[in-house]
Amino acid sequence: MPLTIVDYPNPVLRQKGEPVGEITAELRSLAEEMLAAMEKARGIGLAAQQVGRPIQLCVVDVRPLIKERPSWLTVDGKPEDVAAWMPMVLVNPVVTLHPERDLFSEGCLSFPDLHGTVPRATRINVKTRLIDGREVEFEAGGMLARVIQHEVDHLQGMLFIDRMNSASRAALAGKLKRMQRDFAA
Ligand SMILES: [Zn+2]
Repeated sequence: MPLTIVDYPNPVLRQKGEPVGEITAELRSLAEEMLAAMEKARGIGLAAQQVGRPIQLCVVDVRPLIKERPSWLTVDGKPEDVAAWMPMVLVNPVVTLHPERDLFSEGCLSFPDLHGTVPRATRINVKTRLIDGREVEFEAGGMLARVIQHEVDHLQGMLFIDRMNSASRAALAGKLKRMQRDFAA
């Protein structure tokens, strides 16, 4: 059965993900199904919490936006072809932020039709396992850096509404209240 993406304020979205141990066949098929669900929903990132599984695993694929919102990725200071790294499954990722921030209007598959301006680091260092078990370290910038920060926040139970600037948060307050009411009903 295809995975269902849960909407805010489902409490699983607030759960910190358990670290992933061994990469099993079950985990690989979960990652495949998450990629399919993300693509179907026309997203560029999805965290395990969003399919009801609070573990340290998320998927990203920035290829649909590669022209409008460029991304870059370097390993040991050498530029890599971003598309060749997509889609990417991050297992137990650890992210370090560089100081520079920019603003962009983000969406989230758990908040249908809702967008708000979120400041994020323009560059990040990522240390993660991939779904084939390899440990990798890379630096990411542009859209890829933003998406990874958004997804890694999900793995900690943190949502983009927590990081929105105050103008966006005020503008969305009514919609969020409605979502909370609909969920309770
Ligand atoms: Zn999200």
